[in-house]
Amino acid sequence: MIRASERAMGIEYAIRDVVLPARELEKKGVKVIRLNIGDPGKYDFQPPKHMRDAYCRAIQEGHNYYGPSEGLPEMREAVVQREREKNGVDITADDVRVTAAVTEALQLIFGSLLNPGDNILVPSPSYPPYVGLVKFYAAEPREYLTVEENGWQPDVDDMRKRIDERTKAIALINPNNPTGALYEKKTIKEILDLAGEYGLPVISDEIYDLMTYAGKHVSPGSLTKDVPVIVMNGMSKVYFATGWRLGYFYYVDPENKLEEVREAIDKMARIRICPSTPAQFAAIAGLTGSMDYLEDYMAKLKERRDYIYKRLQEIPGISTTKPQGAFYIFPRIEERSKWKNDKEFVLDALHEAHVLFVHGSGFGKAGEWHFRIVFLPPVEVLEEAMNNFETFMKKRLAE
Ligand code: PLP
Repeated sequence: MIRASERAMGIEYAIRDVVLPARELEKKGVKVIRLNIGDPGKYDFQPPKHMRDAYCRAIQEGHNYYGPSEGLPEMREAVVQREREKNGVDITADDVRVTAAVTEALQLIFGSLLNPGDNILVPSPSYPPYVGLVKFYAAEPREYLTVEENGWQPDVDDMRKRIDERTKAIALINPNNPTGALYEKKTIKEILDLAGEYGLPVISDEIYDLMTYAGKHVSPGSLTKDVPVIVMNGMSKVYFATGWRLGYFYYVDPENKLEEVREAIDKMARIRICPSTPAQFAAIAGLTGSMDYLEDYMAKLKERRDYIYKRLQEIPGISTTKPQGAFYIFPRIEERSKWKNDKEFVLDALHEAHVLFVHGSGFGKAGEWHFRIVFLPPVEVLEEAMNNFETFMKKRLAE
């Protein structure tokens, strides 16, 4: 047998791992309600028409060539406009890089920043690639706590304890996947102060920035004075174009501390050639066009969030914090005597109630004894899922 690399074989991705047992069930003819993947395009959400039209037009008009590695100048300019308006950041197109979505931004940033043995602070619980990709680059993801009792806000004291001389950056995911937390301005300021004290950059994942239910998202990019901040965003969530694989990041770095990292990132960007050209034309339309569609979409999402939150509160054996952003809810399993761990719980719910969640431990240590539900589907689908789940919990708790 030809051996694969240990670095690739070691990769885990909980969100897709649970799909295999679900597929087995489906092969036997069982209808599984899948609430595991955060893809709005699988339900009644599509990118707005002006973006879809711009994509088709770009292809028809012949924009099917390689573009610059850093992204098309028009796209970078559109990002500047959008981000100045949203975050008030003082950046130019030269500070912006376009990527094959946030996932590629993470690859470029981690790959350029981390030597083997370095570490980076990532939230716990967190979106799994933060752990997986950092490990892929032979570095250590150090999970800092976010506190459930405090609406899953980051624990800045815990962050401080985890910093050492090999720490290279602090990563924030806000609004958060999987908890749906929206971080307070005060917390972001404290994190910037901490980063400043240790000379660390902050890497800010803002892919859900305009998807909030109460309160507005605050970016560290808008508050920093001297701490370098790398802000990442893209078309997948707020613009509902997950499959287009397009995103961007930019540097807010008033003292140019990231000069060498920027050079390294550009080297990495060149060997992967460029992001999709026609997708960038669509993104320009999205970034500069009307955001009116978002109001309807957020109204639908809010209805679904309110519905699932209410139902979960009525189900025994679990407790739930109310998500303030994104489209995930992250209940806690209170009754623990019936299962070995949260993965067993999720598999039991799959086999008995035919609903597919993701086990919380797949999102890191602080996710243990939790599970993540995606509330993107219409209320009728959520209703069926919650009916099945409620019956399952009542039965198990009575055993
Ligand atoms: N970052 C977070 C926090 C996410 O939840 C996701 C997808 O679920 C991504 C990044 C992936 O984004 P993209 O589709 O832009 O690669």
